[in-house]
Amino acid sequence: MAIERVAVIGAGTMGAGIAQVCAQAGWATRLYDAFPEGLERGMQRIDAFWDKGIARGKTTPEQKAEWSLNLETVNDLAQAVSDADLVIEAVPEIPDLKRSIFAQLDKLAPSHSVLGTNTSSLSIADIAAATSKPERVIGMHFFNPVPIMKLLELVRHDSTSEATIALAEQAGKAMGKTTILVKDIPGFATSRLGVVLGNEAIRMLADGVASAKDIDTAMVLGYKHPMGPLALTDLVGLDVRRDILKNLQSSFQDDTYAPHPLLERLVEDGRLGKKSGKGIYDWSSGAAEETSLD
Ligand code: NAD
Repeated sequence: MAIERVAVIGAGTMGAGIAQVCAQAGWATRLYDAFPEGLERGMQRIDAFWDKGIARGKTTPEQKAEWSLNLETVNDLAQAVSDADLVIEAVPEIPDLKRSIFAQLDKLAPSHSVLGTNTSSLSIADIAAATSKPERVIGMHFFNPVPIMKLLELVRHDSTSEATIALAEQAGKAMGKTTILVKDIPGFATSRLGVVLGNEAIRMLADGVASAKDIDTAMVLGYKHPMGPLALTDLVGLDVRRDILKNLQSSFQDDTYAPHPLLERLVEDGRLGKKSGKGIYDWSSGAAEETSLD
C-alpha cells in the first residue's frame, strides 16, 4: 500500500520532528496536540529547523515552501486521523495515556491504517491491547533529533502482522531512516545496550579503573563510538537512565540491571547531567569538565 496521508499525535520534541520528516517525505501530514501551545511550539521548532537549513545552504526556500504545504495542524483528534494511512503517536510516556489514545485511534482511524507508537520503554503488546486490531500496532522508536538521527527501531509484538511491519519499513525508508526490527522485550535493542554500557562505565569510575575522560576516550578512540558512555549518560540524563535500568531490573527480575549506587547517589544529589549543569562531568562551561564525585 502506498502511504499518502499521515497523522502525528503529540507535537513535542519527538512528534514535531516526526511530523517534519513525514512532510519532507511528501506525505500530507496532520499534526495534532491536545494543547494549542504544544502545537504552536512544535510548529515553531519545525520552522526554525527549516530556516536554519536555508541559512546553511542545506535547504532551499522552495523546499521549505513545498514541505510546509504538506503540513497541517489540527486540534481535533478525529479530524487528524480520519483518512490517515499511518498514525504515529508521540504523547508523553504514561501507560494509561497511551492506551487511551490507542483506544480512540481504534475507533477514529480508518481500518486499513497502521498505528505506530514512539514509546521508548513501554510494552507494545500492552498498548495494542487497547485496540480491537492489535495486528496493526507496531513500535516506531525514533531518536532525538528526529530529522538528523538515522535509526528507526521497529518493535513487533506477538500479534503485529507482516503487512504492518512492511508498511512501517517502507515508511522508515521514505523518511530517510535505516530500520531495525526488534522483538517487544523491555529495553528493545537500543535502550538495553545503551544503559548497560553506561552503568558499567559508572561502575568502572567508582572502582577507580580510570578517570571519566579516560573511560570515555577508551570507547571513542578504541571502539569508534562518537561519544563516550559517561558523557552520553550526562546528555541523556542520569535520572532517565536510572529509571530505565530499574524498569529492566524489575521486568527481567535480574540485578544485572540494578543501577550502580554511584548513579543512584548522583541522582539523589540532583546531579542529573547536562540539563542540571552537573552530572558525572561539570557542564557549567558548556563542555564536559572532570569534577569530584563526592
Ligand atoms: P514531550 O513532552 O516533548 O511532548 C509530548 C507532547 O504530547 C506535548 O506537546 C504535549 O502537549 C502532548 N500531549 C500531551 N497529552 C496529549 C494528548 N492526550 N493528546 C495529544 N497530545 C498530547 O515528549 P517527547 O520527548 O516528545 O516524548 C514523546 C514520546 O516519545 C514518549 O513516549 C517518549 O518516551 C518517546 N521518546 C522520546 C525521546 C526523547 O529523546 N525525547 C526519544 C525517543 C522516544
